[in-house]
Amino acid sequence: MAALLLPSVVIGAMAILLLEHYYDRFRVLDADKRFAYASSDAGRIGSSTIPTEALITIRYLTETTDRNRRDMLESRITLDREIEAFEALLDEDSAPIFQPFREKLRLLVDGMRRYRIRVDNGKAVTAEVIDQYKPVSVTYLDIVGALRFEIDDALLSRELQLFLDLLVANEAGLVTNFYGTEYLRGHDLSAADLDLFSRATAVKEDALQRLSVRMASPGLKPLLDFESTPSGQWLRATAQAILHDNVAPSPELLRRWSLESDQRILFWKQGISAVIGEIRAAGDNLADQARTQLGSLVVATLVLSFILGFILLMAIKGVGLASRLLAERALLVDELRNAAQTDLLTGLFNRRGFEAMAREMLTRNEIIRQMSVVIFDLDRFKQVNDIYGHDVGDIVLQRIGDLARGNFRNGDLLARHGGEEFVAVLPNSSLDAAADVAERVRQAIEATEFTLDDGTVLQVTASFGCSSAVEPINEALLHDLVRRADLALYTAKFSGRNRVARDGDNDGLMFDRRVSRPA
Ligand code: GH3
Ligand code: MG
Ligand code: MG
Repeated sequence: MAALLLPSVVIGAMAILLLEHYYDRFRVLDADKRFAYASSDAGRIGSSTIPTEALITIRYLTETTDRNRRDMLESRITLDREIEAFEALLDEDSAPIFQPFREKLRLLVDGMRRYRIRVDNGKAVTAEVIDQYKPVSVTYLDIVGALRFEIDDALLSRELQLFLDLLVANEAGLVTNFYGTEYLRGHDLSAADLDLFSRATAVKEDALQRLSVRMASPGLKPLLDFESTPSGQWLRATAQAILHDNVAPSPELLRRWSLESDQRILFWKQGISAVIGEIRAAGDNLADQARTQLGSLVVATLVLSFILGFILLMAIKGVGLASRLLAERALLVDELRNAAQTDLLTGLFNRRGFEAMAREMLTRNEIIRQMSVVIFDLDRFKQVNDIYGHDVGDIVLQRIGDLARGNFRNGDLLARHGGEEFVAVLPNSSLDAAADVAERVRQAIEATEFTLDDGTVLQVTASFGCSSAVEPINEALLHDLVRRADLALYTAKFSGRNRVARDGDNDGLMFDRRVSRPA
């Protein structure tokens, strides 16, 4: 049993450890998925939704038409909806990584909303737009940058790095676009503006370079391709010309700049959307994988538990069977022992049974103050056999056995001592009482008629010897009592048979038992 239980316990413990490991892994990957979603949301807001509102606001400030106003209000609704959703995500996710961004975002977004009111009241100019929207969008991009380090999965982490490069390049492109537009519109650029413009151009080129080297995502191809089209090349050359003061603003130039920029922005928006889709799919895939792994492990554990349970059940059953077999074996041994101690003809104890029972009687915890022994032997039984046959002799012996059984007490030990000789041990009986029982049996035997098949009636007699002693009773004394009863039996035989003789009765007889038994 222990041999079965121990492996079960070990296997069970191993299953629990495995389950724990996979559950942890599942939680890590599930967190990766949440972070991937949060990054893509933040990236979209920072690099697309906010700049879109900024551009449309500039357009509205430049040309205050109903259509531009409608577009601007629409872009605000989109941004507010996305910001609200992201703030809800920040509020419900307790990951410490989000902590530093909560308050900062709230303040910046509040500032941005105040600026909207100024736009609506006609108190805003395009030059301010970049200062109002850029910090919000940079903070969202910072969230993406920070989340990158929280991602456990290496592949997903690389994808996020790529995403971040893309967002930075996009953001820098939008800044370049903004200053280019301002310049071509005839606004003077301050030294600080020029500095930002030149840095944004450099950042964009740098990020583009990295993206094209590690272009792992098919979603990026159209975006990168655009940069080498005549449109992309013209935009870059014009930005350089503006930076080096090599070009004069003109409505012609502004029109083309705006047209090509809009096209570029569209490609980039699509590229970013594609990468967001890929990141989300990768996150989903990871979480699904972890869930599937955990699921199969749970199933495997259940099956294992079932098998173990089944084995244990079988083992318990086996143990039950073994103990039943043992019990049956004990019964069988008992039966065999009884058979070995029982005389088949009369059903009484044989000599071996007599010895065993007598020993048991003496070792029992009952107090025996006095003990008598009666031995009786059928008279001239050889003649019965000789005249009527052995079978008739057997029947006679059987009936004598029954007769004796009916006359001795239940507590007396009765046995067939030898061929046609019987012995009885009578605990707590006096010599007189024993002799009385003997006499009763003797008369019963004498009175019994055996009617044979041919109608012949047969009668037999028996001779009895009795002995008795008082405590202390032990095995040696019992043997002595048997010997003395035997002697008394000889006396009975010698004195003419069919009688009861007591121990001591032979004292007056001239009989030497060593010479011969009476004929
Ligand atoms: P006595 O009165 O002196 O005892 O004479 P007896 O003939 O009874 O004594 P003896 O010892 O000469 O003979 C005993 C006979 O008992 C011998 C044997 O044939 C018979 N006998 C012993 N056991 C059995 C038995 O199981 N079945 C039968 N049919 N006869 C038995
Ligand atoms: Mg005899
Ligand atoms: Mg005999």
